[in-house]
Amino acid sequence: MQNYQHLLLAIDYSTETCAIAEKAKALAFCYHAKLSIIHILDNIPMPDTPYGAVIPLSIPADNVLLEEERLKFNQLCDKLDIEFNQRWLIWGVPKQAITEFASQQQIDLIVTGSHARHGLGLLIGSTANSVLHHAVCDILAVRISD
Ligand code: AMP
Repeated sequence: MQNYQHLLLAIDYSTETCAIAEKAKALAFCYHAKLSIIHILDNIPMPDTPYGAVIPLSIPADNVLLEEERLKFNQLCDKLDIEFNQRWLIWGVPKQAITEFASQQQIDLIVTGSHARHGLGLLIGSTANSVLHHAVCDILAVRISD
């Protein structure tokens, strides 16, 4: 089997994020792979910006909500020790944006959490489920216990 070369860690700030991230980092280390991290913003209105859906992380945003998101994301990435140029904060619908980004960036493994909060706790969560069915690469859905 060919080694993974570029992993994508999808985060939603749930309490399990650090545990999921540790698995992604360990895998990236084992495979000598690049590790990117992505958070999809779907909870604030999309301000009218010249730069489209990708939020620049190196310059403060003029929108207060967006600036809070930018700082929160960078703080978490710092804590997880993710390289600055591998951080992606993007507007969109998580289930679509994650798979689209993965295709564009030639990701070969997406790492997500798998909340067991739907379907009597037996099914994996909606974002993870959709990513599993629509991504063209491998998926690692890290089991999260309630
Ligand atoms: P859910 O299906 O919403 O229970 O979430 C399952 C997993 O999908 C999470 O643990 C994350 O890995 C990923 N995820 C959910 N929402 C987002 C988001 N807004 N941005 C990036 N990843 C997300």
